[in-house]
Amino acid sequence: MFANIIVDITHEKLDKIFQYKVPSRMEGELSIGMEVWIPFGKGNRITKGYVTGFSEHSDYDVSKIKEIQEISKDGVAIEAKLIALAAWMKEQYGGTMIQALKTVWPVKKEERPKEKRMIHRTVSVEEGRKWLSFFQRKNQKARARLLEVLLKSEDVDDGWSTRKLGVTAQVVRAMEEKKILTVERETVFRNPVRASGAGRARITYTEEQQEAIRIFQEDYERARFDTYLLYGVTGSGKTEVYMEMIRTVVSAGRQAIVLIPEIALTYQTVMRFVQVFGNRVSIMNSRLSAGERYDQMMRARSGEIDVMIGPRSALFTPFEHLGLIVMDEEHEATYKSEQVPRYHARETAIERARIEGASVVLGSATPSLEAFAGCKKGTYRLLRLTKRAKEQQMAQVSVVDMRDELKNGNRSIISDALRGKIYDRLEKKEQIMLFLNRRGFAGFLSCRSCGYVVKCPHCDVSLSWHKGGRMVCHYCGYEEKVISVCPSCGSPHIGAFKAGTQQVEELIKKEFPQAGVLRMDLDTTREKESYEKILSAFADQEADILVGTQMIVKGHDFPNVTLVGVLAADLSLYMSDFRAAERTFALLCQAAGRAGRGSVPGEAVIQSYHPEHYSIQTAARQDYEAFFEQEMKFRSLMGYPPSAHLMAILMISEDEALLEKGAYYLKIFAKAVGSDPKLEIIGPASPAVAKIRDLYRKALYLKHEDYQVLIAVKNKIEQYIEINEGFSRIRIQFDFDPVQAF
Ligand code: ADP
Ligand code: ZN
Ligand code: ZN
Repeated sequence: MFANIIVDITHEKLDKIFQYKVPSRMEGELSIGMEVWIPFGKGNRITKGYVTGFSEHSDYDVSKIKEIQEISKDGVAIEAKLIALAAWMKEQYGGTMIQALKTVWPVKKEERPKEKRMIHRTVSVEEGRKWLSFFQRKNQKARARLLEVLLKSEDVDDGWSTRKLGVTAQVVRAMEEKKILTVERETVFRNPVRASGAGRARITYTEEQQEAIRIFQEDYERARFDTYLLYGVTGSGKTEVYMEMIRTVVSAGRQAIVLIPEIALTYQTVMRFVQVFGNRVSIMNSRLSAGERYDQMMRARSGEIDVMIGPRSALFTPFEHLGLIVMDEEHEATYKSEQVPRYHARETAIERARIEGASVVLGSATPSLEAFAGCKKGTYRLLRLTKRAKEQQMAQVSVVDMRDELKNGNRSIISDALRGKIYDRLEKKEQIMLFLNRRGFAGFLSCRSCGYVVKCPHCDVSLSWHKGGRMVCHYCGYEEKVISVCPSCGSPHIGAFKAGTQQVEELIKKEFPQAGVLRMDLDTTREKESYEKILSAFADQEADILVGTQMIVKGHDFPNVTLVGVLAADLSLYMSDFRAAERTFALLCQAAGRAGRGSVPGEAVIQSYHPEHYSIQTAARQDYEAFFEQEMKFRSLMGYPPSAHLMAILMISEDEALLEKGAYYLKIFAKAVGSDPKLEIIGPASPAVAKIRDLYRKALYLKHEDYQVLIAVKNKIEQYIEINEGFSRIRIQFDFDPVQAF
């Protein structure tokens, strides 16, 4: 028996795994994640290592393999727990152990540590003046400039002086040698959050909030660590409930992780936490440098902070005594990693909590089907907030049938009803948000006269329009020629919807010249902080109308917004993706939730070519449970998650012919190893984007009720491609229960 061991998990050297013999006395005792002492290197220095896996044979000369010395008795370190988590992720989602380890452990990149260097004047003012006139006489301008500043302030930041004063390192060194100044270096762990310490007024929880908190606290006190779904409408006070739960955990000496989709991680949200937990809070986001992120992880490791807020990757914060993981907006697609291992933060959070003995609170106004189905099965506990905290009413939602607009001669993308309401709000000086439901590309064909959408007869997802006049199913590869006449009503108004936010903005400006219009989409938010700038300009009522993509519907509080218009509700409905209806429902509910956050009740208008579709009907009534029932029927009929499991195998190669052949053989192999008659194999098909940067892509889909069956097939395929030369130029990735079509 051999154990795979990594020696140093703090550096990039990580990608080396060493094999050691497991002495027979340790067999049965040793497990993944354990800390062991091993003889290492030429001198056999006794070093600490971590077990990442086991194997029964070795690729090396067995007589030269060293033996594990002993199991470290230090107990289970946080490192060991995260390694165990990595091993679980590797098994669950595919990929290598190193890829999994790099995901869970903050690896220090070989970059120079961030040093703050301060220059201090060491001479007296009097003596300094003498030096100054000396430098001036000698025409040593840089030295004079620096000294002038030092005479005023005693010390300056080295970085500032080099930038602003144009003083080189040599100049500083020369002056240091003359003992005019000293340079002090200190490594700083910068805290991206500056605590204002303002504190805040205490609020009285609503009855529903109290009940949710009470259930959590009772369980927690009895050391019952569970997974909860806090299902509460927008504005019902979920964040307040999270904070109270975190307070419970923190006052018991444990720590909490709060996962928030990056896009919702705004200054305001962070400040709410800072007001409660002061400088014991830190954040992670993609704007921090790799070094800064590493620093935050180390601050957590050393016990400097209690609460870490961040997107998906914050899940791996190395807290010593993790007590709670909160996952806000748990239905968001960004919780699924797009890199190997393609883990889902929800499942991984639950596994991490299991390893640590911690609780998980999932929160959403429109829970994922997975989470709600989990409650129905009794694996998660449901906590409900049905009312808004400040007792505002939910928005009044109406649906406009866009097919009628065309009939009545209105070819604009704004319906007459919505136009009228926009005029009304502009007059009342209330604000309006116009949301173009545009997710990715909208490459499906639909009829503007009757709403007909061309779908795959086998998969019940819409066919994607490809250049060259074909319509293709991304799951099974089924193809048809593009049609120019609607097969359902004969209308020639069939085509792909192409309007983007920029066109909508121009159109709005033309139709409502009196209104101030802001636009928010990927293009206008590319620059640093532009996102927050647009939001705060709109919050300060510098504009009347905000036009944007789904970015604008995520959790912002604009009390003066009383009208929300959804311009093309169907665009996300017909993404060629089995989650399209779920995503549409969630987006429409969120959009409606933006209206009427202040004292005036709000209104939302949903424009659709398919107003009878259940995701639009139920969203208009804000009836999640009715949506859930309908959607689950579709999922179980088609064998889609969460009713069954779907494993996508993505194959990537620069050689198209080779890829085709590889996909063919892989399908045959999958059929052979997964001899289970209930295992369904679909494809190979070309994904939505069949070629990216000259790399061709193909996908196979495997369906089965039992996740373990899919894992077993995955493991066999991983072995097969490793020993098979033909696959050396094809990259293969697995995606379990995908949330995005490839
Ligand atoms: P959610 O996270 O469910 O959208 P928030 O926690 O952000 O809801 O609450 C919405 C607003 O209501 C916030 O401004 C919050 O401060 C306020 N709020 C929440 N709970 C209460 C309460 N019990 N009393 C008064 N205001 C509350
Ligand atoms: Zn038609
Ligand atoms: Zn199909």
